[in-house]
Amino acid sequence: MGLKEFTRDDPIFVNEAVLRDNYRPEELVERDAELSEYQEALRPVINAAPPKNIFLYGQTGVGKTLATRLVLNQLLSDQENYDDLNIEVVNLNCKSASSSYQVSVDLVNQFRDTTEKIPSTGYASSQVYQMLWNHINDLDATHLLVVLDEIDSIGNDDDILYELPRANDNESVDDTLVGVIGISNDFTFRDNLSARVKDSLCDEEIHFPPYDANQLRNILKQRATNAFRDGVLDGDTIPLCSAFSAQESGSARQALKLLYKAGDLARTRDDSEVGESYVREARDLIEKGKVQDELESLPTQSQLTLFSLLQLESEGKTPCKRSDIYERYQVVADLVSSDIVSDRTIHDRISQLRLKGFIQHDERNDGIHGGSYYLYSLDIRQEIVENALQQSNARVSDLFES
Ligand code: ADP
Ligand code: MG
Repeated sequence: MGLKEFTRDDPIFVNEAVLRDNYRPEELVERDAELSEYQEALRPVINAAPPKNIFLYGQTGVGKTLATRLVLNQLLSDQENYDDLNIEVVNLNCKSASSSYQVSVDLVNQFRDTTEKIPSTGYASSQVYQMLWNHINDLDATHLLVVLDEIDSIGNDDDILYELPRANDNESVDDTLVGVIGISNDFTFRDNLSARVKDSLCDEEIHFPPYDANQLRNILKQRATNAFRDGVLDGDTIPLCSAFSAQESGSARQALKLLYKAGDLARTRDDSEVGESYVREARDLIEKGKVQDELESLPTQSQLTLFSLLQLESEGKTPCKRSDIYERYQVVADLVSSDIVSDRTIHDRISQLRLKGFIQHDERNDGIHGGSYYLYSLDIRQEIVENALQQSNARVSDLFES
C-alpha cells in the first residue's frame, strides 16, 4: 500500500493536545485540601514576612508540579494588590542534576543570559554559591521563591538544601527574603535528608496522595470535554481508564496517557467511538512498551534469570524457591554458552527484578524450627515478558527456539 493523503479530518479528537503531558490545564480538580494547605504555607509571603520553606512530596503524576504552578501564579498576581511586595520566582527542574553543585550552577544560570552561562564544572562550590548570592542581591525583589522540582535526583548530596534556606540567616543575602519549595517524587528522599537540612527545609510539609478511581474520573472528564468530539466516548471508557490507573499507580499522568492512547487507537482503526476494548488494548500496549524498554536495559544475567522463572511459570512450577530458579538458571545459561554466575549474584538479580516489578515474592514459614523463606513468581503477565524477551538480546531470544 502506498502513502495516504494527510488530511485534517479527525473523527475522534477536537484537540488532542489537551491530553498530552505538556498541556497546562488552568484548574486542578480534586485537590482542594492540598491547595489550601499550600496557600496557607505561603501566606507569610503575602504578609511581607519571611517565607516558610516548603517540602512537597508524593509519587509521580499526582499534581505536584501543576499545583505549584497554579499556586505561584495566583500569588504573583495577587501581590499586585500590595505596594510593598515584589515577589519573584525561580523555577528549576532538577531531574538531570545529580548533585547540589549542579543545581547551584543551574540556578546561577537561571539569572544569566545565554552568552554568560557558566559551565557545569570548573568552579569551587563556594564560588558558585557566591555568584548565586550576588545574583539574588542584585534583584530588586522583596521575596525570592526558589522552586526545586524533582529535587530527589540529588540523592544524599543535599548541601544546596541547607545553603539556600539559610541564605538570609547567614547574611549571604540581605534585602531579599528567600524561600525554598522543594518537590520530591521519592518518599525515601525526605527520610534520608541530613538532620540539618530537615530542620531548615521542612518548615511545612505537604503530602500529595495518589488519586483514587473517583478522583481520576473527574480529572479525565474535565480534560476529555475539550479533547474529544461530542459523543465519541463510550460511557465505560473514562471509568475503566480511571479504575486501571487507580489500581496501578493513582497517577493522573498514567490515566491521561491511557485515555489518549485509547482514542488514538480508535482513530487509527477509523472507528467513530472509543469503546472499552480500546482501553484494554491501550493498556496492553503501554505496559508492553514500558516492560520492553526496561527489559532491554537489563544485563544479560538478569534476562536469563527472568527467562528461567518464565519457564518454571509456564510449567506450572511457581511459586518456587530461589534454589529452583538458580537450578534452572544454570541450565539456561549453559544453553546459551553464557558464564554461569554464583547463587549470590542471581540472588541480587532477583532482588533487582523484584524492585523493578517483574517478580514478586511471598514469605513462608516452615513451623517453629524451619525459619522463613520466600517463594517467587512472575509479577507481570507471561505473554508480556515472553514478547519482550523474544525481542531483546539475541542470545536470550535464541532460547525461545531451543
Ligand atoms: P507530578 O508533578 O506530581 O508528577 P503533575 O503535576 O505533572 O504531577 O501532573 C501530571 C499530569 O496530570 C499533568 O498532565 C497534569 O496536568 C495532570 N494532573 C494531575 N493532577 C491533576 C488534577 N488534580 N487536575 C487536573 N489535572 C491534573
Ligand atoms: Mg512533577
